[in-house]
Amino acid sequence: MNTKKFLLQEKDIPTAWYNIVADMKTKPLPPLNPQTHQPMKEEDFYPLFAKELSHQEMNQTDAWIEIPEQVRDMYKIWRPTPLVRAYGLEKYLDTPAHIYFKNESVSPVGSHKLNSAIAQAYYCKKEGVTNITTETGAGQWGAALSFAAKAFGLELAVYMVKVSYHQKPYRRSIMQTFGAQVIASPSMSTKAGRKILTEHPNYQGSLGTAISEAVELAMQTPNCKYTLGSVLNHVSLHQTVIGLEAEKQMEMAGEYPDVVIACFGGGSNFSGLSFPFLRHKLVDNKDIRVIAAEPASCPKLTRGVFQYDFGDEAGYTPMLPMFTLGHNFSPSNIHAGGLRYHGAGSIVSQLRKDGLMEAVDIPQLETFKAATIFAQAEGIIPAPESSHAIATAIREAEQAKLEGKSKVILFNLSGHGLIDMAAYDQYIANDLQNYEVTDEEVARNVSQLEKII
Ligand SMILES: *Cc1c(COP(=O)(O)O)cnc(C)c1O
Repeated sequence: MNTKKFLLQEKDIPTAWYNIVADMKTKPLPPLNPQTHQPMKEEDFYPLFAKELSHQEMNQTDAWIEIPEQVRDMYKIWRPTPLVRAYGLEKYLDTPAHIYFKNESVSPVGSHKLNSAIAQAYYCKKEGVTNITTETGAGQWGAALSFAAKAFGLELAVYMVKVSYHQKPYRRSIMQTFGAQVIASPSMSTKAGRKILTEHPNYQGSLGTAISEAVELAMQTPNCKYTLGSVLNHVSLHQTVIGLEAEKQMEMAGEYPDVVIACFGGGSNFSGLSFPFLRHKLVDNKDIRVIAAEPASCPKLTRGVFQYDFGDEAGYTPMLPMFTLGHNFSPSNIHAGGLRYHGAGSIVSQLRKDGLMEAVDIPQLETFKAATIFAQAEGIIPAPESSHAIATAIREAEQAKLEGKSKVILFNLSGHGLIDMAAYDQYIANDLQNYEVTDEEVARNVSQLEKII
């Protein structure tokens, strides 16, 4: 009998997160103060984030950062997650490639987001914070943080991108069930929201706008911090539990991945799976390919520019060195709501610039085709976001077949799609389309950025 899944025990949950910056030869450029353009120090983040998270954000020296016992205890609810050999998919594709996926969809909220939500809520609570704010796109981060906030006794306000608020009403109910307050963004409750609604009354929102609103509320509320589900270094750090477990599980399988793949929104699940493997490349010169899969409608890594940019629409956040389409970029309403973000985190952006990783962009229809194949072969309905990784894994497996070569492929199943069935309905009814971004559109947007680099 061939082994189908590789399981670890509670005691194997990592005891430290991996901070890749410590091993990078070229460190990411520093974040800049949005007004003065001066490099920011750890303390400059304190008004916005918990102190320990600010420290992790700027830490360039410690490769390993201990996971607090209370966080590990919460991880035990669903971690370690399984590593699965996708025999069904291999058979369907008739490929010589061996395909593995790390199944992060088994978390209570259905995605990898809980790995960082638990950690952020823990540090906020520990520092005496009582209220937190955040934004959410498709609702995955909001759902994860709602549970984490409740677990640590924090009050949470979530700004949810309006298009998702209506497209994915059940994610809103999930957040409300966990006790969070959910506001459709743009809203009239903030200056940033009122400004954009006055200019564009029918604007359906974007992550960039929702971040502006959440930051504004946090800055104006006493004892309140802002939290973010992706992009930032400390978020990527927390997510490395995914890859650290996968590293052990690939060993159990007796194989080593030739290629590691994850979908890409701001970079958290990609970083989480890939950084522990990239470590082998940085430290041991190991030959391994790492691929980020982004939507063709929001292609910052493949077609954006490397430049300092804001994390949000209104320009409240620190400026980060990133591959970006420009913070004014308004992505099409694709169903992979978690991938509709204009920029990439600064660690990933530096790795991409240094040629240590690759990126591909995938049209929406190809992702749903891949999702359907995967669902039928493996019995799991994937999140529209994760389907970008699946489509890329399928491309790689088909390439292996063409070349008649064996290849070991590892991808991240960042979440399940059971609350995204309206999107599948549209695909089945032939009612979905691809969205292309023109070069002119990209050029127009990025030409508005200040040229700091
Ligand atoms: C949020 C989300 C993503 C995209 O965010 P990253 O930070 O790039 O990982 C991908 N998959 C799922 C299931 C998500 O919820």
